[in-house]
Amino acid sequence: MKLVMKFGGTSLDDGKRIRHIAELVKSHSHSNEIVLVASAMEGVTERLIELTENAREGAIDAVEKSVSSLKERHRLALDDAVKDQEIRRKVSEYLKSGMDELEKSAAAVAVLRELTPRSKDRILSCGERLSTPIVWGALMDLGLHAKYLMGGECGIVTDENFGDAYPLMEVTRLQVKETLDSLLSSRTTPVITGYIALTQNGEITTLGRGGSDFTATIVASAIEADEVWIWSDVDGLMTCDPKIAPEARLLDEVSYAEAGEMAVFGAKAMHPRALEPVAEKRIPVRIRNTFNPQNAGTKITEATKLDTNQIVKSVALVKDVAVITVSGASMVGRPGSAAKIFDLMGRNGVNVLMISQSVSESNISMVVKRNMVQRAVNALEIALLGRGEVKEVVSEDDVNVIAVVGAGMKGTPGIAAKVFGAVAAKGINVRMVAQGSSELNISFVVKENDSREAVRVIHSAFGLGKH
Ligand code: ASP
Ligand code: MG
Repeated sequence: MKLVMKFGGTSLDDGKRIRHIAELVKSHSHSNEIVLVASAMEGVTERLIELTENAREGAIDAVEKSVSSLKERHRLALDDAVKDQEIRRKVSEYLKSGMDELEKSAAAVAVLRELTPRSKDRILSCGERLSTPIVWGALMDLGLHAKYLMGGECGIVTDENFGDAYPLMEVTRLQVKETLDSLLSSRTTPVITGYIALTQNGEITTLGRGGSDFTATIVASAIEADEVWIWSDVDGLMTCDPKIAPEARLLDEVSYAEAGEMAVFGAKAMHPRALEPVAEKRIPVRIRNTFNPQNAGTKITEATKLDTNQIVKSVALVKDVAVITVSGASMVGRPGSAAKIFDLMGRNGVNVLMISQSVSESNISMVVKRNMVQRAVNALEIALLGRGEVKEVVSEDDVNVIAVVGAGMKGTPGIAAKVFGAVAAKGINVRMVAQGSSELNISFVVKENDSREAVRVIHSAFGLGKH
């Protein structure tokens, strides 16, 4: 099979783990052609984000301290992951260029005290540029032929939307295919930095947080891979968080659409856009566990007929959110109220997770991330209050969203009744409800204190757990 394997940060926490995944890749390499995509070492992207903040504030000491601790961490990892001196030396060269880049860019930001999306991406790209050469070295150390490539070298070109760049798919597919096909035909394993790419002008961009998944699926669609394996530290997608309901079960198979919904609702397994390139080509994706490689994981594929037997697949709890309600009788029958509200949110960089409006039109509620609440409320108050249109803007931040996901809900009557019946039987009050017209999920808001109980009763009402 032609496989694209992506390894996330937890699989790359230190040199020993890197060695472990190199062995894992080797064990699959006899009967498969493998392309590897690596993300940054665990927590490194977060460290780099902090570093950019410190640099912006001109906190040179803090910047230098984090740079030297990152250097140290990667050097140690290299020593544990690669034994051969000559290979170590080659990896060190790549590391040195990544570290120089990091130092120079951070210093430039610190001097100017100005962080642009462009300079931020340059700095964030260093996580993958430091981890991936070590993975490459570990594979070589085990005797595999491998080639290290940055996302751009591999052929991934994006627009200039720094921080959340989108690939120019046509060119990207052609270029990636050309680069990788020739490596694979000479039995060389490409080892590619996830998350980062280049604009047409050759500037470094990143694909958004968790973007290595996206790299993997872009690459897979370009070379028409048979499967993508996303290696992480969980066995796969679950019916719900086992910390909430211990009887939660691993899902063997879900559809692209279902997995997409689950990603949006925080199943930490996936970049939300990552499924687009593979869904188009019907390339299956497997979520697998590096620490439990015997397990086949969850397969994400096209919906099969059988799927509809399982109407609800999973129940997710979305924490750290808040509800904002805008109300006023004059919104009734006045076109443009909703547009005004959501335009304000957009212009203030507030992402809206869920929306509902009652038929009376006298109020509109929305769910936003909790850390955005103040910004959202301020923007709404400044723009809308005191003009007679809107009477009140109220927020509640002691709430959670529960999302019930499953493709089989589409066109099956009675699901909502069963969901809310189960919740009501426990005396839990539902504050707000939304169902997308895709009917792939029903989401609703409850008080934070009730939320875990609500997840458990729905999970059991639909018989999702182990029996
Ligand atoms: N290192 C990047 C991040 O943490 C990309 C990834 O992990 O997929 O967001
Ligand atoms: Mg990561």
